[in-house]
Amino acid sequence: MVVDVSYISKEHSDGVDAVAHGVTGILAVQGAFAEHAAMLDRLGAPWKLLRAAEDFNDSIDRVILPGGESTTQGKLLRSTGLFDPIAAHIAAGKPTFGTCAGMILLAERLDNDPNVYFGVLDAAVRRNAYGRQLGSFATTEDVQTFAANGDPSGVISDFPLVFIRGPFVAEVGPRAHVMASTGGNAVALQQGNILATAFHPEITDDTRIHEYFLSL
Ligand code: GLN
Repeated sequence: MVVDVSYISKEHSDGVDAVAHGVTGILAVQGAFAEHAAMLDRLGAPWKLLRAAEDFNDSIDRVILPGGESTTQGKLLRSTGLFDPIAAHIAAGKPTFGTCAGMILLAERLDNDPNVYFGVLDAAVRRNAYGRQLGSFATTEDVQTFAANGDPSGVISDFPLVFIRGPFVAEVGPRAHVMASTGGNAVALQQGNILATAFHPEITDDTRIHEYFLSL
């Protein structure tokens, strides 16, 4: 997908479906935020880029943490003042979707890195789990969705999984549910209103995982 560079400064907060969806805040301090914005535009869902603490306001009822470089994002979350409002949003049980570096930011434990950021997802996540050579690849798997009580609620079949130096889930705790695995490793988790994928749905043409996120 070729991304229009105007996304870097655009803000869409009066989209058609504002009442149904509220506004999705997309962390935009570093990484692949523009691709998520383009995906939400395709779905007619309003979004706002989060670059500074004052960008986080009451209209925001969902948050996307994009791919990128988790160590850099972690530092910028602190220096911008966005860490606390996003942590409060997650603690309130509101929908949050982390892709790749975003999954790392959500994890309670990283099994090869001492850092912990939001520390909410009951899993140990391994950074750069596929190494540098095999770091980027694509495959297709079914993606399971879960109801609030943890029961399976549906399947998004044959979803394209695109990995870019991504993590995988080394250990899953009881509060997290495996949405997708590939090669024997869990690569997507749901824990209540938190979704985390090691892969990048935002750079595919398949809108189904974003639609599911907007339905939470
Ligand atoms: N390897 C990156 C990290 O550890 C994540 C890669 C990505 O988000 N595409 O932060």
